[in-house]
Amino acid sequence: MIEQLLEEYLRGGPINVGELVVREVEPGRFVIRHWKDDKSLQTLAVEHDSIAALEIVRYDEQGNYRALKGAPNLRSGWELRLDSVREVRQAIDYFYPGAFSTWLAFNRGEITPVDLRQTLTRQTGMYRVTQRITGFQADELAGRFCQSHSGCLRTILWTIDGKTPDKYLPLSKFDPQADQLEECDQKRTEDGRAGARPHRVPFLCVEACNLFVAEVRKIVKVHSK
Ligand code: SF4
Repeated sequence: MIEQLLEEYLRGGPINVGELVVREVEPGRFVIRHWKDDKSLQTLAVEHDSIAALEIVRYDEQGNYRALKGAPNLRSGWELRLDSVREVRQAIDYFYPGAFSTWLAFNRGEITPVDLRQTLTRQTGMYRVTQRITGFQADELAGRFCQSHSGCLRTILWTIDGKTPDKYLPLSKFDPQADQLEECDQKRTEDGRAGARPHRVPFLCVEACNLFVAEVRKIVKVHSK
């Protein structure tokens, strides 16, 4: 079903997920590129298997490991040429695990964002201390760690103590209709004004990730010394 819907979307024109642009170039044949290469004429490293995405996502342009897959530092210079929607779906999942299916579930009203307190209540062992974070500290952390231009491109749906963590983030960070890439790249914004843009698939964060929880732990530890 997910593949059927993806196919329908791609028939309507190129789509953009995070930093990817995906398009059907001829019936049943698809190309995925980094958005920076979307209109590029330069020679790109061509791959023919979705599994190549696993290598592309691993390191940024400087060779640093990308622990956070939603970070706006996906390297460019490659092109995936794929022969089926199944391969396209797999590749998107390798780049951004669960992004497309989460968005479809969100559209069907089947997504319930998880409050940070709930996430922290489930923590055990060395992460149990995370439950001591204050709302103010968590808000400050979200503003620093999740910001789109240097942290993460996902749109936040979760809350802190029932409230949107918007003290240090723009309201667009919580709007599934807003383009998080525009927050981090002025050139793309200008390019977008100049021409047609791919249809954007919102890239959602339903629950604070493990890396966020690990940062919460660091803050609690520092403040408990
Ligand atoms: S909590 Fe969500 S928005 Fe923040 S860094 Fe993790 S995945 Fe990205």
